[in-house]
Formats: sequence, structure tokens, C-alpha cells
Amino acid sequence: MARQFAVIGLGRFGYSVAETLIKKGYEVLAIDNDEAKIEAVSDFATYAVQCDATDERALKAVSVKNVDVAVVSIGENIEASILIVMTLKELGVKEIMAKAVTPLHGKILANMGVTEVIYPERDAAIRLAHRLIAPNVLEYLELAQGYSIEEIEVPGQFVGKPLRDAQIRTTYGINVIAIKRRVTKLVRGEWQNVEEMNVNPDAEDILQKGDVMVIVGKEEDLDRLSKLG
Ligand code: ATP
Repeated sequence: MARQFAVIGLGRFGYSVAETLIKKGYEVLAIDNDEAKIEAVSDFATYAVQCDATDERALKAVSVKNVDVAVVSIGENIEASILIVMTLKELGVKEIMAKAVTPLHGKILANMGVTEVIYPERDAAIRLAHRLIAPNVLEYLELAQGYSIEEIEVPGQFVGKPLRDAQIRTTYGINVIAIKRRVTKLVRGEWQNVEEMNVNPDAEDILQKGDVMVIVGKEEDLDRLSKLG
């Protein structure tokens, strides 16, 4: 059976999490104590419940214990966020992802044993800063301390060369895991500019101007490559 989710707190973050999961076809129990927030999701959420999630009886009544993953997305009221996580743990919810707004909030959540603490604003800021430092870095995601995955436009010196001759792995210790390319294609009788993703790039694939490489490696190596321009 597909994984079932609960999203508690439908602010901007929680709402987007719930919306994306639902669009992907998953069942989502959406909870908020604000009637307007429940109204906003009730058309598309599988179950939308208005209740105070710090109230253990309310969480029991909506059978939150049956979900596989609960996302707690409450920032402003740190006390509520902690109480809710505590209740979810008591009810036996195995996977809890909780949003934190300050390092202290995050530390408390981590000490309570949540599966993952998420800092959406901090993470978005870090990604933006990396893109500002290296404008040809289009996307950035830290995988582990010191290791990242990035999307960069193919540096000019590699254009027209097969991947093998770019020597990216031998020179930089970086793996190219995919290549994105915009192509004009006939789609349902209409010419359209679409993005194609080659997730299994071959050594013989020729890099073209405008291609975007998805690369993975050590941050210092990625920095050297992304500075090529
Ligand atoms: P965002 O930045 O994602 O918009 P936020 O971090 O500012 O949100 P809050 O405004 O604290 O988060 O809360 C997010 C949502 O959680 C709000 O819609 C709020 O109504 C709801 N919420 C707050 N406390 C509770 C509670 N005890 N029970 C249920 N929902 C709650």
C-alpha cells in the first residue's frame, strides 16, 4: 500500500508539502486549527480536519497513528510544535519530519528523536547564496557534510566534446549523473520547446551549448568546476 501522510500545520510550508503529495496521488491527512486553512485544502486533501493538534484526544480521534509519516510544520508556536511531536511519538508514529525556525527549536526536536529536522528558510538561503557565488550553478543540494549535487551549465571549454574528452571525473573527481537539454519536438502535432533529461549519460555523448549537467562530488571540486564558466 502507498505511504500515507499527515501534515500538521498548513502555513506556507505545510500547505505546499500537502499539495505536492496530493498532486502525486498520495493520501494526506491535513490538520490545522484555523478554519480558513482547512477550507483552503478541503477541496483536494484526502482528509482535512480542523482541530488543535496539541490536544492528544483530537489526534487520537483522527487516527493519526495510522500514518506512515507525519510532517509537523508549525514555526511560530514552538511550544505547540514540541507538544505535537511528543504526542505523535507517544501514539507510535514512526517517521516524524518537523520544521524548525531557530537552532534551539531544531535542537529540541532532534533531541526528541524526530526522524528529520527541516529548516526551510535556512536551506533556501544557503542554496541561494551558492547560486549567487557561482551564477552558473543553477541548483544546489548538500548531500552530506562537504558533498553536494549541483546543476551547472556546461562550461564553454567542454562544448562540442564527448563527455569522455571533457575528463571531468579524472580532472575534478566529479561524476556527471545526468544531462538536461532543451530540444524542439513535435508534441501532439505542435512544435514545442521541451526539456529532455538524459539520466544515463554515455562517454560518447556530445556536450552542447546550453546543456545543463547534474554533477555530484566534493564541494571544493564542484567549486573548481563551476568557476570554469
Ligand atoms: P509558514 O512559514 O510555513 O507559513 P509558520 O512557520 O509561520 O508557517 P505558523 O504560522 O506557526 O507557521 O503555523 C503554521 C500553521 O499551523 C498555521 O496555519 C496555524 O494555524 C497552524 N497551527 C498552529 N498551531 C496549531 C495547533 N496547535 N494545532 C493545529 N494547527 C496549528
